[in-house]
This record gives sequence, structure tokens and C-alpha cells, in this order.
Amino acid sequence: MHKPMPIKSVCVYCGSRLGNKDLYQKQAKELGQLIAGAGLSLVYGAGSIGLMGVVARAARDSGADVIGVIPGHLDDVEITQPGLAELHVTDDMHQRKKMMFERSDAFIVLPGGLGTLDETLEMMTWAQLSLHSKPIILVNTNGYWSPLVELVKHVVADGFASAENADLLTVATSPAEAVKMLEAINKQGEIQ
Ligand code: AMP
Repeated sequence: MHKPMPIKSVCVYCGSRLGNKDLYQKQAKELGQLIAGAGLSLVYGAGSIGLMGVVARAARDSGADVIGVIPGHLDDVEITQPGLAELHVTDDMHQRKKMMFERSDAFIVLPGGLGTLDETLEMMTWAQLSLHSKPIILVNTNGYWSPLVELVKHVVADGFASAENADLLTVATSPAEAVKMLEAINKQGEIQ
């Protein structure tokens, strides 16, 4: 049987804003700590603002290697986070998204805005085209992503995507569950 690649680094997509509920920040911090605790490195958009910054600082302060990838034009706007293990400044958004994809073995999505949606849907569409088979896990904090899950079901129900495409997204109810899913994949790989 084909042995899956071990998951060593996880890309987190999430808001460049904090959102308006304390739970969003709480879970972002938890996720950063859990990523470090699981011995994974974090790949993300390099900003110090919003949930992005919260995840990155928590992961870094808990001992994870944090790899930031930012396009030059956002270097000021998203205020690059100091103390990253690696910082890559790309020419544009496309290079940024490609490098984040290439450096990651899995994706975890926390609440976020249009940028987060774009990044998540792009990874789903690339998986749909068999360009990768990396897990994409939504952390459905407070039901934040339920409308997206419903939208994907609707797309499938009305015949615009196959039923398997609905399975491209895995839904976790908490950061702990999301990281456990990655650990379970690694454990499964070890025993194959
Ligand atoms: P947001 O979810 O809109 O707060 O954005 C989260 C991250 O996605 C930030 O690092 C943004 O730079 C990035 N982002 C914003 N717009 C886009 C876009 N059109 N495509 C890809 N990423 C984006």
C-alpha cells in the first residue's frame, strides 16, 4: 500500500484581523501552541497582525519553527512578524501562495476573511485537479465555517462538483481535534 508522506509542516490560513469574538484569538493561540507541541513547523503569511500574528507568536514562543512568506508589497501593511525561523519575501501574491503550498504538508484553516477564503478554495480546487492530496482541515470555531461547508454541499447537490469533492474539506470542532487528525495521519503512515 502507498505510504503517505509524513506531515512535518502545516500551513495555517486565517484572518489578518482578530474578529469580534474572544474565542477566535483564544483558539488561534491554542492552535499555535498545539502545532509546536506536536513537533510540527508552521508555515503562514508572515504578518504580525490579526489571528495570523496570534498563531505565529504562540507557535514560535512554544518552540516551533515558523516560516513566514510575504509579498514585498504587503511587508508594511501586514507588518512582518519578528523572530521567524525563516522569512521569505516574494515578488507577488501568486509566488507567496505557491511557496506556502510547497512548504506545507497539510493546511489548517481558522476563521478569516476573503483572503483566507481565497487560499482555502484554491487548495481545494488544486486537490480537485489532483495537483496534491494534502489534508485541508477547517476549524469550525463557533460554527464560523458552517456556511462554507453548506455552500460546498449545495455545489455538489446541484451537480457542479462530484460527491468526493465535498470530502476535500475535513471539519474539526477545535484546534486540538485538527492537530490530532494530523497526528493520526502520521501514526497511520508509520504502521503501514
Ligand atoms: P484575510 O482573511 O482577508 O484577513 O486575509 C488573510 C491573509 O490572506 C492575509 O495574509 C492576506 O494578505 C491574504 N490575502 C488577502 N487577499 C488575498 C487574495 N486575494 N488572495 C490570496 N490571499 C489573500
